[in-house]
Amino acid sequence: AVPVALVAGLSRAAHFGVLIKGAQPLEALARITTLILDKTGTLTDGRPQIVSIQTRGALSQDDCLSFAAALDQASKHPIAQAIVTAATARGLPLPMPQSIVETPGEGVSGEVDGHRVVVGGATFVSAQLGGARPDEEIASAGSVVVAVGVDGQLAGHLMMADALRPGTADLLSGLRRLGISRILLATGDRRAVAEAVTQGLHLDAVHAELTPDQKVQLVVSERKAGRVMMVGDGVNDAPALAAADIGVAMGARGAAASAEAADVVLLVDDLNRLLPGIEVAQQARRIAL
Ligand code: ADP
Ligand code: MG
Repeated sequence: AVPVALVAGLSRAAHFGVLIKGAQPLEALARITTLILDKTGTLTDGRPQIVSIQTRGALSQDDCLSFAAALDQASKHPIAQAIVTAATARGLPLPMPQSIVETPGEGVSGEVDGHRVVVGGATFVSAQLGGARPDEEIASAGSVVVAVGVDGQLAGHLMMADALRPGTADLLSGLRRLGISRILLATGDRRAVAEAVTQGLHLDAVHAELTPDQKVQLVVSERKAGRVMMVGDGVNDAPALAAADIGVAMGARGAAASAEAADVVLLVDDLNRLLPGIEVAQQARRIAL
């Protein structure tokens, strides 16, 4: 039978909006030593604004945004949703794509109004366009950049601002006081963005440009030295959440696949709930033992 203190702990955590899927995850949550954080939608708010649109060739800014939004209707990625919101707010047409292929965490390609369109990270888009390296200005930009390709040509870039969630620095020092001695970032985004966004957070390491598989490999290698909690929101995070000692999903706006793969789901869109969640787990474990 499960000790009463652990059951009570599950119910107290639920009051904080932290859904813990059983007594075993509750115990594991109390003993975490390493935290791996996803960036977009986890460490950041995940509702980025478009700061500017830079086009190449003949396409207007509105057409560039319209093509991107047409494909991104199909994606649950927070940046994709921000692009659709921005296009809608500008009253732009949102044509239904004739075909769509999504590569989770990287981007979407497909056919829109008879044009071959690709939208996503600069590396993904340039690979789809035949391998030209993203230029220096894009590679070094400290803001999130979404590239758009149309009919085999780079059509433009959407520069987006995605801010840290409020209270992040305090949250991380609180987690360190609870015994989490190692805190890392694992993002699919470029290094320049990862460095800019985490400046001042005193992270132990920043891993950028990771595929979903590489996020899993990072979790596996960190588990050799510590008990690892991975927090993420995306479809691309689901395998890493499953591979961690404790996977935590951003439940409110995150992908269903990440909530299913996780041991703990934050039911409100607030990373700060991690702190009371772990405190409750540690108290319950002390009483139960
Ligand atoms: P993280 O792993 O931190 O959540 P992201 O999911 O932001 O990283 O992925 C990195 C980059 O991929 C984003 O900055 C964006 O350029 C791009 N990206 C991924 N999916 C899409 C999409 N559906 N539409 C537009 N851009 C995308
Ligand atoms: Mg994410």
